[in-house]
Amino acid sequence: MKAWLKFSPNIVNKSIISEAIKRYDIDFNILRANITPRGGKMLVEISGPEEKEGIDFIEDAGIEVHPAMRVVKKDREKCVDCGACVSLCPVSAICIEDDWEIRIDDQKCIGCSFCVNSCPTGAIMLFE
Ligand code: SF4
Ligand code: SF4
Repeated sequence: MKAWLKFSPNIVNKSIISEAIKRYDIDFNILRANITPRGGKMLVEISGPEEKEGIDFIEDAGIEVHPAMRVVKKDREKCVDCGACVSLCPVSAICIEDDWEIRIDDQKCIGCSFCVNSCPTGAIMLFE
């Protein structure tokens, strides 16, 4: 699953994630992170046969887990379908459909925000 993990200041220095990886042999892919001593958040992909147990462990240890169904959102009103974002996406998550409208594949998106920063009309927003 893809999820935002939120860390409060009192747990930011604890090795909860590495303990979960060790105990449950989960694959833990960090897509985006902003962690400071005052807390922070990470966008991650977690997978493995014991994924659920690993996530339960992380939550029990005090990290908030919010499933990320969508990482970015396009504002239809603002998008002018210029296509500038398409070639910038490092994982080919944005494509131009037959009707010339651009579409974002939520499964592929890794939340790098290249498209957010490159859009001339501010049509793409990052969910956090
Ligand atoms: S760069 Fe912005 S305006 Fe251009 S296609 Fe992408 S979302 Fe639409
Ligand atoms: S956030 Fe990054 S990965 Fe996701 S659609 Fe935009 S450019 Fe692609």
